[in-house]
Amino acid sequence: MKSQTSRLPTCEIITIGSELLLGQIEDTNTVYLAHEMARLGIAVRFRTSVGDRLNEMRQVIRGAMDRCAMVIITGGLGPTLDDLTREAVSKVAGVDLEYRQDLMDEIAAMFRQYGYDMPENNRRQAYVPAGSYAISNPVGTAPAFITEIAQKPVICLPGVPRELKYLMTHAVIPWIRKRFHLADHLVSYHVLKVVGLGESAVDRVIRDLIRPGKNPEVGLLASQGEIKIRIAAVAEGEKGAAALIDPVVAEIRSRLGSKVFGQGDDTLEGVILSLLHQRRWTLSVLETFTGGVIGERLSNGPHSSWLVQSCMIADPDRLREYVGRETVVPEPKAALASARRMREKAGADVGLAVVGAFQENQGAHLTVTGCAAASGEGIHKTFAWEMGGDRLSLRIRGAVIGLNTLRLALLKR
Ligand code: ATP
Repeated sequence: MKSQTSRLPTCEIITIGSELLLGQIEDTNTVYLAHEMARLGIAVRFRTSVGDRLNEMRQVIRGAMDRCAMVIITGGLGPTLDDLTREAVSKVAGVDLEYRQDLMDEIAAMFRQYGYDMPENNRRQAYVPAGSYAISNPVGTAPAFITEIAQKPVICLPGVPRELKYLMTHAVIPWIRKRFHLADHLVSYHVLKVVGLGESAVDRVIRDLIRPGKNPEVGLLASQGEIKIRIAAVAEGEKGAAALIDPVVAEIRSRLGSKVFGQGDDTLEGVILSLLHQRRWTLSVLETFTGGVIGERLSNGPHSSWLVQSCMIADPDRLREYVGRETVVPEPKAALASARRMREKAGADVGLAVVGAFQENQGAHLTVTGCAAASGEGIHKTFAWEMGGDRLSLRIRGAVIGLNTLRLALLKR
C-alpha cells in the first residue's frame, strides 16, 4: 500500500533572478514557500533557481512541469527588459502574451495613489500569457498570474517577499486548496527539541520510529548543539492528526526523558527563564570562552529580569581577580567555586559559571576544554567536556552545554 504522504500533490519551486545565482540575495522566498506548501499538504520535490535568461528559464519551467503536478515561480515580474517570467511561461504554454486593460488600470491607480507618474515600461506588467488567471497586487505593481499548461498550474508571483506573502495568503493558498481539493485534509506537525545528545545518538534511540514516507513521518534536524525531531502527519482534521501524532510524541518523550527540553517554538533560554520565574529565583552568570552568548540569550525573551548579573571575562588574570585565585582552571571544582562566587557577589539565588580554554592544534583546528557549573541552595551541578571545531561553533555549542547544565540543575529542584 502506498503511504499517505506519497499521495500528496507534488510541486517544484523555481526562483528567478541572476542576483540569486551571484549570491547577492538570500533565497528566502523558497524557504517561505516550502514551509507554506508543507502546511498545505503539497509535497515539494524540487527547488530550482535560474538567472534572467529566457532560454534557461524555459528549460527549467519545462523540466519542472515534467517532474511535478504544480510549479510555483517567484521573481522576474518587474517592468524592466530583464524581467522575463511572463515571456518564458507564455513560450512554454505556446500562447501569446495578452494585454489586460483591467491590470493596466490597477497599475496606473497604484502610481496615482503614491503620487508618481507611471513610467511607460510598467505597461509590460499588464501583459500575461493568454488564458491565464490574473491576480491583482494591491501591495505592489506586479500582478501575479496562474497559467494552466497541460492541466498543471504554473503559478507566477513577484519576487519581493512582502508582496509574495500577501498574494499567497490572500489569493494563492485558497486557490491551491480548491484546485487540489485540499480543504478536507491537512498536514499537521509537532516538533520536539532535544539537547545533550548528538544527532547520531538521537537517531540510535528512535531509529525504529524514523520511517520516511510513513504517516506520521518522523525526521531529525540538527543545529548548533540542539536537535529538532519533527513528527508530521497527514490526516482529516485536527483530531485525526492528533490521534496519529500524540502516541509517537509520548513514545519519543519516554525514550529521551529530560533530554527533551521543549517543543514547538520553545528555546533553551526561554525554558530556563520560565523555570526561574516559577521558582522566583534570580540568576547570576559568568562566562569566559563563550563570548557573551549565554548572557545574550538569557537577556532576550519573557522573564529575563530574573537574570540579575551577567559577566563575560576572557582574560584569566581578571577572572582570577574577580572570582578567586583557584577558579581559572576549567575543571569542576573550580567552576563550582566560580558559580558560588557569582551567586554571592550578586546576592542571587543561583550562580552559573561556564569556563573554558581554547587550545590551538595544527593550523586552524581548535579544541576547547570546558566546564559548566550551577550553584544554589541544594544545587551543585557540574559538567565538563572537551570538543574540537572552529571558534564560533565551539562558543555556541559551549553556551548550549552551559545553559543545559543550568536547566538540568533547576529541574532537579
Ligand atoms: P518587482 O516588480 O517588484 O521588481 P519582481 O517579480 O520582478 O518584482 P525581482 O525583480 O525578481 O521581482 O526581485 C525584486 C526584489 O525582491 C529583489 O531585488 C530581492 O530583493 C527580492 N527577491 C527576489 N527574489 C527573491 C528570493 N528568491 N528570495 C528573497 N528575496 C527575493
